[in-house]
Amino acid sequence: MGQIPVAEGIFTWPSDEPSLIGSRCTACAIVTFPQQDSCPRCGSTDMAEHLLARRGRLWAWTTQQFPPPSPPYAGPTGADFVPFAVGYVELGDEVRVETRLTETDPDRLAAGTEMELVVIPFRTDDDGNEVVTFAFQPVT
Ligand SMILES: [Zn+2]
Repeated sequence: MGQIPVAEGIFTWPSDEPSLIGSRCTACAIVTFPQQDSCPRCGSTDMAEHLLARRGRLWAWTTQQFPPPSPPYAGPTGADFVPFAVGYVELGDEVRVETRLTETDPDRLAAGTEMELVVIPFRTDDDGNEVVTFAFQPVT
């Protein structure tokens, strides 16, 4: 039993300072997240792994008050469901990442709020492993 990431190749783990793993087109320099095999802008297939900045600015967000459709949602449902916030965080002027937010109080979120990547527990799998996922929290 241990901690396992919700998916491989999404963020560096285990790590004291995890980073999201994106890709960067070597032809036109566009950055994507998650990683892609071909460039959405120029079509090049010469994409290199690119670690994203750990901090960025909140761009837009909303709160999720009920469980999303499953699949693809694989988190807690029914009485175990806890509302969460999702949003877009702009990282290093390179890319906007869709992410969970640790803060669900709308009064504590504002456009431009500085956010930092964290890895948080998501659920426990059938083998007793703690499945972890990434989120962004306001920098205090
Ligand atoms: Zn490109």
